[in-house]
Amino acid sequence: MTEEVEPAPSVAVVGGGAVGVTTAADLAARGADVTLYERGELAAESSGLAAGVLYDAYAEDVDTAVGARALERFRAFDRTLPGFSFTSCPYVIAVREGDPDADAVPAMVERMRDHGREVSVVDPDALGRRFPALRTDDLAVAAVAEGAGWTDPASYVRALGERAAREGVAVETGTAVALGPRTDAGREIRVRDAGETGESAVETRDFDAVVVAAGAHTRSLLADAGVTVPVVPYRVQALVARAEYTGPMAYDATADAYLRPHPDGLLAGDGTEPVPADPDDYRREADDWFREGVSAVLDERLASGDSAERFDPQSDVSRSWAGLCTATPDGDPVVGPVDSAAGDPVAGDPALFVAAGWQGHGFMRAPAMGETVAEGVLASLAGVDFDAPDSPWIGAFDPARFDGDEEFEIAEGMSLSNRADGT
Ligand SMILES: Cc1cc2nc3c(=O)[nH]c(=O)nc-3n(C[C@H](O)[C@H](O)[C@H](O)COP(=O)(O)OP(=O)(O)OC[C@H]3O[C@@H](n4cnc5c(N)ncnc54)[C@H](O)[C@@H]3O)c2cc1C
Repeated sequence: MTEEVEPAPSVAVVGGGAVGVTTAADLAARGADVTLYERGELAAESSGLAAGVLYDAYAEDVDTAVGARALERFRAFDRTLPGFSFTSCPYVIAVREGDPDADAVPAMVERMRDHGREVSVVDPDALGRRFPALRTDDLAVAAVAEGAGWTDPASYVRALGERAAREGVAVETGTAVALGPRTDAGREIRVRDAGETGESAVETRDFDAVVVAAGAHTRSLLADAGVTVPVVPYRVQALVARAEYTGPMAYDATADAYLRPHPDGLLAGDGTEPVPADPDDYRREADDWFREGVSAVLDERLASGDSAERFDPQSDVSRSWAGLCTATPDGDPVVGPVDSAAGDPVAGDPALFVAAGWQGHGFMRAPAMGETVAEGVLASLAGVDFDAPDSPWIGAFDPARFDGDEEFEIAEGMSLSNRADGT
């Protein structure tokens, strides 16, 4: 007698950014029948605009575990994923004299070390001796995370997208989807060409599960299915400047700006606008205030700033741009099933999942979180409860912790308070 073979679960992943491609590739690697839908090209939105700063310097245990796993995979991909490379580079957190946040740094670093991270508090003079490219005489305290690095985010998405396609994922770029109702066959989605306007659906398909990893569009996409998640897009900015820079990555916590080496000089950014942005209508060019502000920070933070040569936001900046990050009320992402969270009539039999709200840290967490989502979806489809001891889902990221209509202030993603208290 032949044993009946269960058909592979069919899963649609909506969003061809870092989170979506990782989820799709990891689902396929675990035997699922996967279709990845992206309305533009892979890496068309936030993942293609990210700075590529990667670190595990978090104080909270869940964040540390995610950061550590992500970096482990980035390093492994460097060896095994054609078209992708990871450059190891220490990450400096610098706090200036007079900044009250300075007092919190030693305890924050202690917590990072308790979770096994290679991070230490460094005296500013010693920091200056180790990294002559940085100016340190105005600092009160600094910390160095040794396990960090950087990459080109778009190359990760494209390389992993190609691998996913080789492993059997149907990669449907130029294809926007809308969510349809829950049916007996699973979750329905409507597929249309991205170029097409209006509501008419070209095709309707049922999947056992749908994962929404649509970045800044997540909230509006889910709203069509009657699911409300408090994931609010906000605008951040970055630039590439011509400079001889071979120092570490650095986050000037007092100035709220970061920098890293870049093949064309250095990349610097933040320029957070802590107000909700419309993902279909936001300014994609960087603002003058951002270019001028970052140029001033570079003058102050780089040792070469002592010379007569000052950064000129007009002539030294070769590229600058704005993109979107997504905020949640507590700064943690929403990752997991959403049907039951939304009071779906078939609660307990989830077919709709979300992975969004990364608060500026979505790219560096994508290798770990895509893996978690892939394993979580398959566990949920197999009947494992979200809270079960063997559930891959992360309790702190449960979408059900929110009603979805919360009002909240958007907090800057890299800020020390955001990182130190794990919120
Ligand atoms: C300037 C800047 C610098 C940043 N720097 C860093 C950094 O150094 N480190 C870090 O970790 N993070 C950084 N981030 C944040 C990071 O970019 C995001 O957290 C991350 O890219 C989110 O990935 P994602 O896959 O969730 O979303 P996205 O990359 O936005 O992907 C979502 C995709 O869904 C698609 N989509 C939307 N609606 C639909 C639909 N209806 N149908 C089909 N497809 C759809 C979109 O086209 C998009 O490609 C930065 C962001 C910006 C803007």
